[in-house]
Amino acid sequence: MHKDQIKNTVYKYITMYHDMLDENIKRVYVHINNEFECEDKETEALGFVEVDQFGEAHIWFNGKFCDINPEKEVKDLIIHELAHLFTPVSKKHGYFYNDHGKKWKEVVMMMGGNTQKWI
Ligand SMILES: [Zn+2]
Repeated sequence: MHKDQIKNTVYKYITMYHDMLDENIKRVYVHINNEFECEDKETEALGFVEVDQFGEAHIWFNGKFCDINPEKEVKDLIIHELAHLFTPVSKKHGYFYNDHGKKWKEVVMMMGGNTQKWI
């Protein structure tokens, strides 16, 4: 999936599900990197989400994964990460979203994603 297509898909979902976005979040940035480090995962992450104390959310995607996988897989990853953004569970360095609990699963299913992957 092309970078612009990933970004467009993210913003399309955010517009569609705008009412699920925490009111403290002022802006959402999408990053697609070929190499990025996720501090609390030993293995190479496919994506993660964080929100800083200024209400700026950042969603990171693994560019390599997005390049080599079919559109459906990348869409599932986008939904996976957005569901974290929509279901904040704990605070650390501002906000941090990393739970795959009941609420997260409900949001993934509602958005048409796959709750079995990458958890
Ligand atoms: Zn996750």
